[in-house]
Amino acid sequence: MRTPAGSDCPFYHADFHRGRQLQECRLVARTPGGGRWGPDLCGRCRVPAIQRANACTHLVLQARVRQGVLGLGRGIDISATCVRSGGPVPAPEVGCGLCHSLPLIEPESRS
Ligand code: SF4
Repeated sequence: MRTPAGSDCPFYHADFHRGRQLQECRLVARTPGGGRWGPDLCGRCRVPAIQRANACTHLVLQARVRQGVLGLGRGIDISATCVRSGGPVPAPEVGCGLCHSLPLIEPESRS
């Protein structure tokens, strides 16, 4: 579903049908200690970009609201794990490299 920030996110849910005013992030809602979410956070969230870059079905995301101070620094902290390798995934846009091998970067040839 399209977020208020204009990105497609599978975790965003909204229902304005027949006077309802429901907006929720199901990723924050299912994350232990996810915090209090608001639709303003979608524009500061990496999840839509992660989902576009990496569609691996073994990747599990968690999202926690970072409140910041006086509204500054407010955002979403994303963490990721891989259910296949069993470990954290520091760069979820890239993945852990178990299913899809990471490209080797060749040193520049010296001539
Ligand atoms: S906060 Fe992030 S994960 Fe949650 S609905 Fe918005 S874009 Fe999706």
